[in-house]
Amino acid sequence: MNRVADLHIHTLESDGTFTPTEVVLKARDQKLDAIAITDHDSVKALDEARESAQSLGIEMIAGIELSAYVDDCEVHILGYCFDDKDPVLLGKLQLLREVREQRIFEIVKKLQALNFDVHAEDIFLLVGKGVPGRLHVARTLVAKKIVGSIAEAFKRFLTPGKPAYVPKEKLSTGEVIRLILQAGGVPVLAHPGLMKRDDLIPKLLNEGLKGIEVYHSEHVTEKQRHYLEIAKNFGLIVTGGSDCHGLAKGKMLLGTVKIPYDLLELLKHASRNYKEGLIHG
Ligand code: AMP
Ligand code: FE
Ligand code: FE
Ligand code: ZN
Repeated sequence: MNRVADLHIHTLESDGTFTPTEVVLKARDQKLDAIAITDHDSVKALDEARESAQSLGIEMIAGIELSAYVDDCEVHILGYCFDDKDPVLLGKLQLLREVREQRIFEIVKKLQALNFDVHAEDIFLLVGKGVPGRLHVARTLVAKKIVGSIAEAFKRFLTPGKPAYVPKEKLSTGEVIRLILQAGGVPVLAHPGLMKRDDLIPKLLNEGLKGIEVYHSEHVTEKQRHYLEIAKNFGLIVTGGSDCHGLAKGKMLLGTVKIPYDLLELLKHASRNYKEGLIHG
């Protein structure tokens, strides 16, 4: 049997709806051999997921998804195979969480100025122990029937230029890439097809980017081909995953993107090489 992996999954430790153990159980149901949990700005799911994965014979790779900005353009960077107890990383994540909590109050203020009956408590109820984000706001707007769908919430209110948009802590791409590298990880550009800024790739490469997410639930075959070509031209590692948020966006995406295990082998191999470089270089 050809082994397969999904390297982009969120849990309720960020803005997904599955617990780490539920993710592992679904991964088994979907016949995945390996997964990476990539919560936004959090590594809190990793210990539980690692334990559940081990008991079910599924391989789990440490992952995270961090946001950076180039001017107003948001760039998502995935990190893999890093030390998830790295104190510099953990310190930064704590700061990012605090900024995100503050941001919810600012978003709510903007929604209230538009005369919507939305309160921070409604949103934090949904956040639970997760990392508060726009998806929680969008779900609250749907629950309150202010919008008909998550997509509408983003389109009308939550994207740049729209009346309830608030940016997060504006880390630069260089800062985010260095943060992952110093924790011994491999920085990978997430869903470039959603970012639609291929012109930024050479800059990211200069800053230490090592890989690109070619396979993603929102990349059609044409886009996969395009980014595979870019990966080849720039010598980038190829990764992929579903970007499953549990049921937060409607249907479950876990199992919809399965990449060959060989790609994970290459990622792990590269990670070992970079770690050697960190130690000896
Ligand atoms: P944040 O990190 O708080 O800025 O929120 C980003 C989250 O919102 C990510 O989980 C994205 O998957 C989600 N998101 C961003 N844009 C959209 C969209 N148009 N439709 C659905 N989810 C979105
Ligand atoms: Fe998300
Ligand atoms: Fe993302
Ligand atoms: Zn994601």
